Amino acid sequence: MHATIALLPGDGIGPEVIDAAADVLRVVATRHGHTLALTRSRFGAAALRAGDPPLPPATLDACLAADAVLLGAVGDPAFSEGPRERRPETGLLELRTALGVYANLRPARVWPGLEDGGSLRADTLRGVDMLIVRELIGGIYFGEPRGRTADRREAFDTMRYSAHEVERIAVAAFESARGRRKLVTSVDKANVLESSRLWREVVTEVGTRYPDVRLEHQLVDSCAMRLVSDPGSFDVMLAGNLFGDILSDEAGAVVGSLGLLPSASVGGKGGLFEPVHGSAPDIAGQNVANPVGTIASAAMLLRHALGLSDAADEIESAIGAVLDAGCRTADLARNGEPSLSCTEMTRAIVERLGSG
Ligand code: NAD
Repeated sequence: MHATIALLPGDGIGPEVIDAAADVLRVVATRHGHTLALTRSRFGAAALRAGDPPLPPATLDACLAADAVLLGAVGDPAFSEGPRERRPETGLLELRTALGVYANLRPARVWPGLEDGGSLRADTLRGVDMLIVRELIGGIYFGEPRGRTADRREAFDTMRYSAHEVERIAVAAFESARGRRKLVTSVDKANVLESSRLWREVVTEVGTRYPDVRLEHQLVDSCAMRLVSDPGSFDVMLAGNLFGDILSDEAGAVVGSLGLLPSASVGGKGGLFEPVHGSAPDIAGQNVANPVGTIASAAMLLRHALGLSDAADEIESAIGAVLDAGCRTADLARNGEPSLSCTEMTRAIVERLGSG
């Protein structure tokens, strides 16, 4: 098959992890006889530095014309204080909205070789394999009004959800659960927030259409606790934009590192695929970033956007084999274990693909 993938390296470690994923995509495409055209466009602070808005029109056009988009990360301390329209993160929210990708799928599982635990005991980690289904283009990240009072001493945001927005993300969660262990844990703060009361009502109603899937509701605070005390008890975790964002970083730490987590944002045009982590300015430019989250996002792209499940499975097997063989980037290395650079880890995965 022939497909076009728009690569948006973005900022910080974004270009490093996108280079890694591009190498892997080229190898699997060659092995399977596919031609993948990989285009690159400026995005985030990289675009702002060139005098463009964070999501330049040409970048949006390239994304809309492509079969799928693979993004590194955006964010740069140099632009964190500026007006909203000149912040890299604003470009990302605009891109997600323009693509209409309301369902953000974030799988978090313990990879082979990492079962001995990072910050958690091995027996707590056994069997952890969850899918966080996060609503991506609504809620408090988008609600109006937002702003500051005239004296700038008060600030406000709006947490707003319509029944339609909740319903479509709930359907995504229940459909996902059908292909898994058939449990949906819906996360809210219904004891306090009006928007959460609507959320719970609509999710319960959608749940009646899926009698084969068990639904439970959990308040976000106790959910955060359960995620570290009993992470294996989750199958599909359904959450709004804000709660899903926070809980998925926590899930990253649970399974070993935020750098391991991939994501797929679907439901709209094509699909947007990106690691869960941000631009990690503290390690940018050092070639020490963990590329696994982005390489696994490329695998999700092949599966969800292009229907190439075999190629996606191969990439995930290669990642698992390399981690199982003890390859570790610095974020995964424990007790003075030697670590591989981003490019060395990528080479290990590419070599494994080549030998499979
Ligand atoms: P972050 O995810 O960038 O980093 C958090 C911590 O995890 C850091 O210590 C970092 O070094 C580490 N880390 C992250 N990814 C890693 C990887 N692949 N390998 C090894 N270590 C990794 O979060 P932050 O520091 O809170 O945010 C930095 C910037 O990223 C901010 O500007 C933020 O707005 C932006 N951000 C962007 C996205 C996105 O583009 N989707 C997501 C989250 C944060």
